[in-house]
This record gives sequence, structure tokens and C-alpha cells, in this order.
Amino acid sequence: MGDCPQQTPLFTFGVIADIQYADLDDGYNYSRTRRRYYRSSLQLLRNAQESWSESPVKPEFILQLGDIIDGFNKGHDASDRALATVLREFSSSPVEVHHVWGNHEFYNFSRSALLRSQLNSTPHTDGGPTGARAGGDIYAYRFSPFPGFTFVVLDAYDVSLLGREESSEQYRDAMSLIKQYNNNEDLNCPPVCEGRQRFTMFNGGFSKDQLDWLDSVLSSADEKRERVTLVSHLPVHPFSTDPICLAWNFDELLAIIRSHSSVVCFMAGHDHDGGYYQDRDTGVHHLTLEGVIETPPDGNAFGTVSVYEDRMVLKGNGRITDRVFLFSGCQSDADHTAK
Ligand SMILES: [Zn+2]
Repeated sequence: MGDCPQQTPLFTFGVIADIQYADLDDGYNYSRTRRRYYRSSLQLLRNAQESWSESPVKPEFILQLGDIIDGFNKGHDASDRALATVLREFSSSPVEVHHVWGNHEFYNFSRSALLRSQLNSTPHTDGGPTGARAGGDIYAYRFSPFPGFTFVVLDAYDVSLLGREESSEQYRDAMSLIKQYNNNEDLNCPPVCEGRQRFTMFNGGFSKDQLDWLDSVLSSADEKRERVTLVSHLPVHPFSTDPICLAWNFDELLAIIRSHSSVVCFMAGHDHDGGYYQDRDTGVHHLTLEGVIETPPDGNAFGTVSVYEDRMVLKGNGRITDRVFLFSGCQSDADHTAK
């Protein structure tokens, strides 16, 4: 590929993860090692919204990477109120928001309630291309904000104990899968055996139907030489996260990525410490975004991504690191920074 000297991005978008808002005093994570700022997470979202609305190039859309409100809301009968509060904050600007679903969405709402809620951001595709959605009650869809660029929102809890009726076949299948690897009485407690730690109740995986659909979306994108960014609450590359946070069948998702040329980036949340790794085999950038909920009130945790023909540039705020995601086939990072 030739020189790529663009100055003005083709488009930009915002990213934010794990807001986990609740009108509650600060608390701690499961292992009581990290403080969680339930109330001030709303102010951190406000900071992000202000930054995006004041930026000279307005974002085309925002990616909300899941866990928008905390599971504790459910016990306080505050799920609807907390969600309304956060969504009101998002609606303070007219920018479209694409919502990813995480474990905390399912602690608060059933899958059918989520599908009916404002957290279902599937675009209206009447008259649009077929295959834009995975189908059934799988919450996965693709959208194209700019010619040549596709984003795919994935459902990492399609195979899970969360959000499925206990009487359903999907629940029984997920239970038999997790029990193959996790012998603990409390299935939120990870197995100690290395390589199995992800088999906990707060994680999930992708069904064969969803993987087949993704495969067909990527085949079409390959043909059109599009750049595809995959978005999921759960990370799928072991070097981009603590292995405890990986999707159950991350390896099957990685195999699909490997069999296509169009994927350039995989974005996830869930691991509040964040992470990043560029897969040497595929060139795909795996970004796990630091979570708002464990960010002190005087900090920030959001990013703005500028997209160019040959790369995406993440401008981080607060504890999010600036990064350049060069697309495979374009000049090397070294060449780029030497310019
Ligand atoms: Zn999560």
C-alpha cells in the first residue's frame, strides 16, 4: 500500500466501558481488592459526553462496551431508574450509541426485556441488506458508519447461564458446559486449573449460530475489502486480558478471525484493568478498555478513535492509553512514527 498521509480522519467514534452506575456508596470488587465508584461513574460519563460534544470533529457514534449499570441495582429495585439515569446522560447529545451487553445487563434484566429496551441498538434495517442481524434472540448485528468500514456488535452471553430461562434448553446446555470445567459450588468462583479459569458464571460464549453468521458477515467484508472492527463485552485474546475475563469459546472466535482478512480490531470491556495485544499472526489489534467503575472520581476512562484509510488512532483520556492501530498491509508502526 502506498503512502497514507491523511490529516483529517474519515470519521471518529467514542468508546467507553463498564460504567456500572448505581446510586450507592462506593464498594469493592468480588475479591475486595479494587474500589468501585458507583455514583461518580455517572460524572465520568458526563465528562466523556462533554468532551465528545465539544470536539471539533463530532463522533459518528459511541460504543458503550457493556455493564452500563451495576447488578446491585437489582437488589434495590432500582434497575429501571438507574438505566434511565444513565441513558438520560447519553441522550444529552444527539450522537447514536451502540450498546453492547455484559453480565451486569443480565443481572438487572432478562434477555427478552433487554431486547425490548433502549439497550437494543440494532439499527432499523427495513429495506436494508439481509444478514445485518444474527437472528433469533441473539443480540448481534453489523453496521457500516462509513463506506468500506463495518462494525459488528457481538453477543458474548449468547451461551450463558445469565439471561436464559432456567427451563430453557440453552440454560441446560450452558450448565452442562460450565460444569465440565468448574467444580465449585459457587459458579462465580473461577476454577483454579490454569486454562479453565474463564469458566465462571459471569462469563459466557458465542453459539454456533452466531459464529456461522459472523463467518458469513466477514466473508462478505473480505470480498469488498472492508475493514471490520468486532465489538464484544468479553475479550477473546488471552494476551489482551486477565484470562479470567475471556469468553468461554474465545478460541473459536479467534479461529474465525484468522480465516478472514477483513478484521482489523477487536474491542472489549469487562476486565477493568484493560489490556492490549496485537496478534502477530493476523495483525488484529485486541483492545480491552479500562472500566469507568474502578476509576477514581478525579480521573477519566474514555477514548475517541479517529479512523483513517490505513489506521485507527485511539486518543485516550485519564487512564486510557493513546494507541495507534495500523491496519495490516499498511506501513509499519516504525515508519509511521518516523514521519
Ligand atoms: Zn462485565
